[in-house]
Amino acid sequence: MLAYTYIEKGKFELLEKPKPRLLEAGDAIVKVTLASICSSDLHIKHGSVPRAVPGITVGHEMVGIVEEVGSAVSAVKPGDRVTVNVETFCGECFFCRKGWVNNCTDPKGGWALGCRIDGGQAEYVRVPHANQGLKRIPDSVTDLQALLVGDVLATGYWAARIAEIGPEDTVLILGAGPTGLCTLQCVQLHNPRRIIVCDTDPRRLDFVRRQYPAVLTAPAEGLREFVLAHSDHGGADAVLEVAGSPDSFRMAWECARPNAVVTVVALYDGPQVLPLPDMYGKNLTFKTGGVDGCNCAETLALIAEGKLDTTPLITHTYPLREIAAAYELFENRREDVIKVAIDCR
Ligand SMILES: [Zn+2]
Ligand SMILES: [Zn+2]
Repeated sequence: MLAYTYIEKGKFELLEKPKPRLLEAGDAIVKVTLASICSSDLHIKHGSVPRAVPGITVGHEMVGIVEEVGSAVSAVKPGDRVTVNVETFCGECFFCRKGWVNNCTDPKGGWALGCRIDGGQAEYVRVPHANQGLKRIPDSVTDLQALLVGDVLATGYWAARIAEIGPEDTVLILGAGPTGLCTLQCVQLHNPRRIIVCDTDPRRLDFVRRQYPAVLTAPAEGLREFVLAHSDHGGADAVLEVAGSPDSFRMAWECARPNAVVTVVALYDGPQVLPLPDMYGKNLTFKTGGVDGCNCAETLALIAEGKLDTTPLITHTYPLREIAAAYELFENRREDVIKVAIDCR
């Protein structure tokens, strides 16, 4: 089968590899229908994910059809259409039982697929702990509608949930890339009074205005003044930082009102400064980290009800054979790309 492979820093290649086999009782083999490219794949390519193992198949956001299951798998059966969770988790350890699956202590736990073990930019993928990691896609939901459920939509849903958003709130979202836009949709589910989206790319702000007319948009320049003018208590009541740029962490806490919750979803290239003397008396709460990706059944149900729709974010589709061209487009942000689907059928 064809599999897009991490060769070494700076180099991915489409290789012919053997089809994966069941290795453990909890495994499933999934025939991938659609996969997508995530900015974390680019982090691997650029060598900034030290855990990534050269030789592995990349890709951690995909949907497909269950081909085969191990003897311990009861949640899905061959023929089921499923989403694949970005995180592998056991469901039984201390952290899993608390819902903090990102910190699952199982040796296979956490972000393994497409990083430490073979992922899904391929014709088939082996998924460990399939009872937790695979969710059946409702009949009324297409593969394309479900494609982002396992990773960026899971992230947006989790971020909006932990941000403690109330009905009177002004919510500021920094970053209108794929995860920022998923976060925006999930913040809308909480019905705050106002949502402000900030990005440095005017084309992305255009996209937000077209798709979500009720949302306010602002460039990075003058953001603090804009937020002050559009909030009731001297800043945003909740801030979600999804940009991860050199300035966005500072903007996040500067634009927050006193006693706000600042949720940091972004992955930075370097350390950020927490200038406690400057923020003394502001009494902020920071929430940080990686998604606890165990909400896929909930988001699939919301997609089926028409309350979430990430299909406008998938701006391009390429066949697996042309995946190198898809990466080139995504990496260089050409043609107003937001998300690329890879058709692996
Ligand atoms: Zn990702
Ligand atoms: Zn666990």
